[in-house]
Amino acid sequence: MGITLFNTLTQKKEHFLPQEDEVIRFYVCGPTVYDLIHIGNARVFVLFDALRRFLEWMGFRVVFVQNFTDVDDKILKRAQEEGKHPQEIAEYYIEQYWIDAGRLKVKKASFHPRATEHVPEIIALIRRLEEKGFTYAVEGDILFDVSRFPEYGKLSRKNLAELEEGARVEVRYKKRNPADFVLWKQAKPGEPFWESPWGKGRPGWHIECSAMAMKYLGETLDIHAGGVDLIFPHHENEIAQSEAASGRPFARFFLHNGYININQEKMSKSLGNILTVRSLCDTYPPEALRIALFSTHYRNPINIDPQLLDSAKNYTERIKNLLRALSFIERKIEEHPQRVGRDEGEEEGEIMKFKGLFIQALEDDFNTPQALAAFSEFVRYANIYLLPARGRWARQVLQAMREFLSMVEDILGIIPEGSWQEEEEAILHLVEERERARRVKDWSKADALREEVKKRGYLLEDTPLGTRWYRAEEEG
Ligand SMILES: [Zn+2]
Repeated sequence: MGITLFNTLTQKKEHFLPQEDEVIRFYVCGPTVYDLIHIGNARVFVLFDALRRFLEWMGFRVVFVQNFTDVDDKILKRAQEEGKHPQEIAEYYIEQYWIDAGRLKVKKASFHPRATEHVPEIIALIRRLEEKGFTYAVEGDILFDVSRFPEYGKLSRKNLAELEEGARVEVRYKKRNPADFVLWKQAKPGEPFWESPWGKGRPGWHIECSAMAMKYLGETLDIHAGGVDLIFPHHENEIAQSEAASGRPFARFFLHNGYININQEKMSKSLGNILTVRSLCDTYPPEALRIALFSTHYRNPINIDPQLLDSAKNYTERIKNLLRALSFIERKIEEHPQRVGRDEGEEEGEIMKFKGLFIQALEDDFNTPQALAAFSEFVRYANIYLLPARGRWARQVLQAMREFLSMVEDILGIIPEGSWQEEEEAILHLVEERERARRVKDWSKADALREEVKKRGYLLEDTPLGTRWYRAEEEG
């Protein structure tokens, strides 16, 4: 029992409890704001949003921090291309992030710090490293000397000798060790800069995460998460500089989600197959995109293709069907109290069983595909229970179904809502009008209403309890 998570630091599934009762300090590396977010970014944000929701559902208070990298070479390049100020680019793409993340039902973090608003903290952290002798200057830049941190490589399991032999990355100048990285970059003409003890410059990418994480969460985080591509060098460097400064472990758990492929190919600008959240949201409901991302275990690579997205969309249609059937029965037992039965077949117990399997799956290294499977079984079971032929329904069973649905929404955010509900109400209105017409034997009006419903893509089924409706394509 209890929660286990796979910790990249130990390469093991470990029992997870926060260092302080009830409070979880959780940091996720956020986007570099120079473009619209794509499905690969979305995988990180949606997954850890759901893990955070799950931990909250389990009763923890989660302090959740996700940063914006708003000063970076990519932003400067974009600004130059568009003839804009880098800050304008960053502001614009932060706005776009809110739109896309909102559409994906990603909850806002407790804090969304921006690098440019934390330069004093970043400078203070570099000063601490400097005082302890972990830094050196080359041509105006301040670098971290990895050879001074013996545990360097403990996350990615690389050793310095290996890195020495490896390809020389960016030979801008002579580093002491190839893995040494920039903490503070000297400003080039025309670049944004801040005053610092080392002259005009700007922070390196790695140091901003350490400074912001420690500011909002303290020196030791419970969970630090991001994509697998961040293990090296980003997270390795965050560990080195944070632990060198504080003398304490930087994060107890490092979680990493797997790569994303598009139609079995790596997603890249050069292949021209970048799938933005913006374009996906125009074709698929957000719940379907979340389901698609949850359909593979977070540590495994995921292949996004139309088949996966369509099957995720079907999954949402099945949920809608259940919601329709449930509302139908709930309405009908209010209209016909003689239809209220007792829970004689222990159906409530069955629903609790599905709920238990759902939670168990998530407790086991956040196994979302297994949780989706348990929920799917529940949907199948509930649909049978809600068939009009049954005749009687127990209120407590319907209530248990509602509670399970709302729990699944709280944690995974996959229950269809929004415009769909308005559409449903409009259909209900037409169906009720048709029922009235039928009662007074106004057949031509009833037929006209049936046609109207059909035009909106729904088919009607008259049952002894009244009229139910379906999406036309689900009938076959
Ligand atoms: Zn980071």
